[in-house]
Amino acid sequence: MFEKVLIANRGEIALRIHRACREMGIRTVVAHSTADADAMAVRLADESVCIGPPASRDSYLNIPAILSAAIITGADAIHPGIGFMSENAQFAEMVEEHGFTFIGPSPEHIRVMGDKTAAKQTVAKAGLPVVPGSDGAVDTLDQAITVAAQIGYPVLIKATAGGGGKGMKIARSEEELQQAYQLARAEALAAFGFDSVYMERFLDTPRHIEVQILADTHGNVVHLGERDCSVQRRHQKVIEEAPSPALNDDQRRQIGELAADTVRAIGYRGVGTLEFLYQDGSFFFIEMNTRLQIEHPITEMITGIDLVREQIRVAAGAPLGYEQDAIRFYGHAIECRVNAENPESFLPSPGRIHSYHAPGGLGVRVDSALYDGYRVPPHYDSLIAKLVVHGTSRNECLMRLRRTLAEFVIEGVDTTLPLHERLVAEPDFVNGQYDIHWLERLMEKDA
Ligand code: ADP
Repeated sequence: MFEKVLIANRGEIALRIHRACREMGIRTVVAHSTADADAMAVRLADESVCIGPPASRDSYLNIPAILSAAIITGADAIHPGIGFMSENAQFAEMVEEHGFTFIGPSPEHIRVMGDKTAAKQTVAKAGLPVVPGSDGAVDTLDQAITVAAQIGYPVLIKATAGGGGKGMKIARSEEELQQAYQLARAEALAAFGFDSVYMERFLDTPRHIEVQILADTHGNVVHLGERDCSVQRRHQKVIEEAPSPALNDDQRRQIGELAADTVRAIGYRGVGTLEFLYQDGSFFFIEMNTRLQIEHPITEMITGIDLVREQIRVAAGAPLGYEQDAIRFYGHAIECRVNAENPESFLPSPGRIHSYHAPGGLGVRVDSALYDGYRVPPHYDSLIAKLVVHGTSRNECLMRLRRTLAEFVIEGVDTTLPLHERLVAEPDFVNGQYDIHWLERLMEKDA
């Protein structure tokens, strides 16, 4: 097992990884920017190294600085966390070239799955159904018009490098397509540095259902069930739950096994998530994330498996040590993503926290790096806390969620807590009847 792990990330996820390492007897080094010198993970880690100024490109995306930090501290492995370097194949390669273990999949798997058209082709070959769309990238407007005529309007233009819902535009007709195509390319270029786009049929009422996979380097693969992440705003997840209220046990087992078989077929290692849209009883693969997901705690709550611990173990070459039959699903879990944002305008709200009280009690978990007096920096993602609640039934989970949301105090910055309080009381949410467009429809009604 590793003796020392360098955590190349920040915020709640850096803390989450530190906690797993500590429980495994592994020492930690947190590589941080100057803006994060007072972060909770930096305070708790065995060591910390400042790797640059606040701007991510100069610190959390600065490969030479991260590698130097690993060299001078004598770390054995680097955990990239979520976002930043976690899906950068070149980084993974360089980590290995410098003699460290990258806690994640092989660079080849990151590369293939990072190109969303290559990812779709790869999983389709392994037997997974995919959303109908272009065969690969769509390089000209003429080609886009031809493809749209074949798959039928409405269509969605998506960035092949995609992530965070960026570079995605809907076109409902050929007239709309002209503009949407150019806009998607421009947005893709700005966000990812490449303007390559592809096209899919736009589904009107799907749910977003994703399957958690865990694979070791000895050919063992298990799935840890699904998460329903359909409550979204601008293609970004807001609330997630496991299991999905839309699936029965047979459907759950089928999609889980199909996902596990796919991952086995491609020889993947580590944790990974296969994302699907689910509509009218059918699943359509959209993408695979080759890293930990923000919403991983709900899976941990219903399986009792520590995903970060397992991720570190398999990266060190350890066998899983259990098979699918050993995995038990128990109860229901829901996560609310709490952002430092105005709950109506969604404008970021950085600043100093002058009062913080996290809820507790049976079945309650708060993943957050906040503390009284902490200053939320303006430079990064606005996620500041994940409220995760477990109950023996969905109803118990909902009652507990309402109780904990009412107890949660975060003062000094605006947060999305009031939005969550409202959403979990909406009859459609209570009944589990929502799709990926539900939240935006609800907000349009308000406007
Ligand atoms: P990203 O990598 O940017 O997160 P995804 O491909 O995972 O992009 O899609 C993000 C979200 O966009 C999905 O969860 C879903 O809400 C929406 N979406 C993606 N593809 C489609 C589609 N073909 N039809 C309708 N909505 C889609």
